[in-house]
Amino acid sequence: MTDHSSASPGPTADGMPMLGLGTWKNTDPEQCAESVRTAVEMGYRHVDTAQHYHNEAAVGEGLASADVDRDDVFLATKVWTDSLAAEDVRETTQESLERLGVDYLDLLYVHWPADTYDPEETLAAFDDLYADGVIDRVGVSNFTPAHLDTARELLDAPIFANQVEMHPLFQQRALRDVAAEIGIQLVAYSPLSHGQVFDVPELTAVAEKHDVSEAQVSLAWLREKGVTAIPKATGGAHLRDNLDSLALSLDAADVERIDGIDREERFIHPDYAPASW
Ligand code: NAP
Repeated sequence: MTDHSSASPGPTADGMPMLGLGTWKNTDPEQCAESVRTAVEMGYRHVDTAQHYHNEAAVGEGLASADVDRDDVFLATKVWTDSLAAEDVRETTQESLERLGVDYLDLLYVHWPADTYDPEETLAAFDDLYADGVIDRVGVSNFTPAHLDTARELLDAPIFANQVEMHPLFQQRALRDVAAEIGIQLVAYSPLSHGQVFDVPELTAVAEKHDVSEAQVSLAWLREKGVTAIPKATGGAHLRDNLDSLALSLDAADVERIDGIDREERFIHPDYAPASW
């Protein structure tokens, strides 16, 4: 694994900054480029996109216009489920690089193990990209423990991370144990549950105690669990609020209170996933 990055405000997990910028639904090119530029200049050092978000070119534009070296930003994208045949993985990754305006990726994920996902074929292509130095790390997303077992058997490269939905309303207790046992990072998507974290009494109580937002509490709780979070934010105020979560330390009572939330409410329902998942 090559680690190009030298600057990383906030803690890192095995070289990956534990706070990143999500970009799903940030499809207006100007707004997307501007939010990426603002975020990176504000201090974000991890940006998450995907072929399926149709914004890689805007993300690349935002990165290029920021006054920060590309090597100092941890950049991740994902191969969509219609492109997981070996040749398509290679071709579409090349297209992603061109859209993003970079010559390597810090992390490339299999977006969902669905549709054209064929463990042997797909993962062999990821191994090739890793061996060729096109990608620094292999990631998977929306993988169950069974998917992880199969992938680990087939891949030569280590699996670096599994990106899954996680926040205080969907705590991924079992998957966290699996990730710790097999030594892979968890990256939490929808870490603010798309805004639902603002409506959880336990989070509001902790937020009021520290005079911060519920978003910051949610992000600090994920970090306390050793999980990287990639909240999507568009404007400066949300970007700043989320970045400021790095200064929030929760105490044991706060963590216990949040751990006790037992709601199992996921924002991305499995129904949303490609049909064969
Ligand atoms: P999220 O980050 O939980 O929530 C985003 C929403 O919260 C946006 O409407 C945003 O508004 C708002 N927001 C952000 N910061 C805020 C703050 N401090 N105060 C109030 N509101 C705030 O949801 P997400 O976009 O689903 O997840 C984050 C990222 O994870 C995605 O963007 C994507 O990169 C990734 N993801 C991956 C998968 C996968 O299958 N691998 C699935 C879903 C998401 P504004 O935009 O107006 O700032």
